[in-house]
Amino acid sequence: MTKIKSVCVYCGSSSRVDQAFKDAAEELGKHLAAQDWDVVYGGGRVGLMGIVADSALEAGRKVIGIIPEHIQEREIEHTDLTELHVVDSMHTRKQMMVDKSDAFVILAGGLGTLDEFFELLTWKQLGLHDKPIVVCNVKGYWDKLMETIDHIAAEGFMRPEDRSFVVVDTVEEVAEALKSAPQETIDPKTKWI
Ligand code: AMP
Repeated sequence: MTKIKSVCVYCGSSSRVDQAFKDAAEELGKHLAAQDWDVVYGGGRVGLMGIVADSALEAGRKVIGIIPEHIQEREIEHTDLTELHVVDSMHTRKQMMVDKSDAFVILAGGLGTLDEFFELLTWKQLGLHDKPIVVCNVKGYWDKLMETIDHIAAEGFMRPEDRSFVVVDTVEEVAEALKSAPQETIDPKTKWI
């Protein structure tokens, strides 16, 4: 695996969430910065996204935001980032977020976060990347999703090995989990069950 230099964070753009998630977002920014890792994210200054960015910036790290033109207004881009890329589409944004990052963290979020998480998993399943993915399951937020993924595997609709991420319960476990995440690249040609 390439040495981790930058970590992409996927998390919610909503601010109307429990304080525990906001605290986790702040802690995550500091935690990644303490590893000397740069942060890549969706470029907004709203919700948990903005909190992670502010916290990593405050800790002196480089924070790279990638936002599509058409939601720039709605998500209110962060204006103090080290780099802000305004791109033409959601697809370009997601591709660039993956290309610019060596590892990924999923914090609590909504449908956008889910979409990004599943794209990461399906791209990995198809052999398009082999970068580590950690789900930070603060307050057991993703428990039901984990059950659903286990159910999908148990029913034979995915291979158990394509559950290619590590789950931790707290932010302080994230860095270690990313560094020790399993590195086997699954041959996509063997994918079909
Ligand atoms: P959310 O988790 O829904 O608060 O969204 C988190 C991030 O995902 C935000 O930056 C959204 O712009 C982004 N997002 C929202 N919907 C989608 C989508 N359909 N595909 C990809 N990203 C999305």
